[in-house]
Amino acid sequence: MVLKIEVDEDKCIGCGNCYEICPKGPKIWKINKVAHVLDLKYCHVCTLCAMECPVDAIKITR
Ligand code: SF4
Ligand code: SF4
Repeated sequence: MVLKIEVDEDKCIGCGNCYEICPKGPKIWKINKVAHVLDLKYCHVCTLCAMECPVDAIKITR
């Protein structure tokens, strides 16, 4: 079982909601035009990031 978070870069508008809402935002997310996942070892799969994304660009699989 491998946790994966994928950002659809064609959909992402770089709003930063994922970074803001994530309890470990600065450790996991980097916003640079579009959102990038830096390190998933801090993720506890709360799925808040995906729920707060206004364009539905975040896909979480585990
Ligand atoms: S699932 Fe939760 S902890 Fe993981 S990246 Fe999204 S908001 Fe952060
Ligand atoms: S919340 Fe969605 S649109 Fe906003 S930066 Fe994150 S992935 Fe991109």
